[in-house]
Amino acid sequence: MTTTVSRDQESGARRSSLAPNYAPLPVTLTWASGAWVRDVEGRAYLDMLAGYSALNFGHRHPALLEAARAQLERITLSSRAFGHDLLEPFADALATLAAPALRGTPLVLPMNTGAEAVETAVKAARKWGYDVKGVAPEQATIVVADGNFHGRTTTIVSFSTDHEARDGFGPFTPGFRVVPYGDADAVRAAIDETTVAVLLEPIQGEQGVVVPPAGYWPAVRAICDEADVLLVADEIQSGLGRTGTTFACQLWDVQPDLMTLGKALGGGIVPVSAVVGRSDVLEVLTPGTHGSTFGGNPLACAVGLAVVELLATGDPQARARTLGEHLHSRLATLTGAGLIARSRGVGLWAGIDVDPALMTGRELCERLLAHGVLAKDTHGSTIRLAPPLTIDRQDLDLALDRLGQSLC
Ligand SMILES: *Cc1c(COP(=O)(O)O)cnc(C)c1O
Repeated sequence: MTTTVSRDQESGARRSSLAPNYAPLPVTLTWASGAWVRDVEGRAYLDMLAGYSALNFGHRHPALLEAARAQLERITLSSRAFGHDLLEPFADALATLAAPALRGTPLVLPMNTGAEAVETAVKAARKWGYDVKGVAPEQATIVVADGNFHGRTTTIVSFSTDHEARDGFGPFTPGFRVVPYGDADAVRAAIDETTVAVLLEPIQGEQGVVVPPAGYWPAVRAICDEADVLLVADEIQSGLGRTGTTFACQLWDVQPDLMTLGKALGGGIVPVSAVVGRSDVLEVLTPGTHGSTFGGNPLACAVGLAVVELLATGDPQARARTLGEHLHSRLATLTGAGLIARSRGVGLWAGIDVDPALMTGRELCERLLAHGVLAKDTHGSTIRLAPPLTIDRQDLDLALDRLGQSLC
């Protein structure tokens, strides 16, 4: 007996075998291509979430599928106990792509999920603090921002300010100081001789695409330089073309010391993440101090390399800029018409607040679903739009027409 019926269609008698840590919209997907997905009943939807930016190049991008298929015929897993012939090419390509956005000649440390990349950056920063900066043993602190989202591990939720993400999961990892997002003076005030890093999202995606003031990142960069503190940019959602630049920090001409990448690095096919940055920092992770069974596996490197090749053309970034301008001007029209309270964002990435008196973000997403658009609420009355960067302009317009209809 198969049980493909979604929870919402259940009579209540049928028990799901799935742990209840998600409350998905009532749709069961079975096929996708580009910006379009189809459900088991054959209905088509425009995907305006794009796997939280894990699908920046759309579903089943031909070049990425081809890279994966070819690799399936060769070797898929080696473990880092041995080398393989795509590990160095992937690292070289990613380092070359990221070099203009970072200090010095970067190194690449491949992992799998975003949370693992953040954990890796935390470990590297702490070890650099002890080995190089001379912080007293066990005293390292890292400054983070409220409203952050960096993943779901116990250490990462230790510095979350989201009660749902955090409550019930203690005891927590010490050594983090939370300051208001967008306030550089608060970062300066939180730093002392124990501080090894400031870890921030360039733009807070999960918080509702919150863009900080223009002077924030340059000011934090200067503060980190003064205090000999590493600036770590979590570019897992903001990076790889989404904002119209290859990395969001390039919007402000700021070069972090380390950045974490994930989501779109796996091309929507496999989980691929990495920490990229200063060699004198990543070199503290000597053999035996850190690792991953799957990190940098041949299939991941094949797909990651193909992703880097797509970005090296500059086309996805250019599309994000052009289509992004169009997106934000159409959202401004909806705001002008009183249909949405406000919107914000950069590139092909928008947070939209609806009037809470009208509906919640979840209700809007349910209406969008009925109109053939997939989107996801964040907090309260906020939804986020992050379509594939490969979306056709006509399809983007269709999704925005349907958004307008869903608000009436
Ligand atoms: C999604 C995300 C993560 C966590 O990535 P996972 O692959 O889900 O572990 C970390 N940081 C940011 C900014 C993210 O958007």
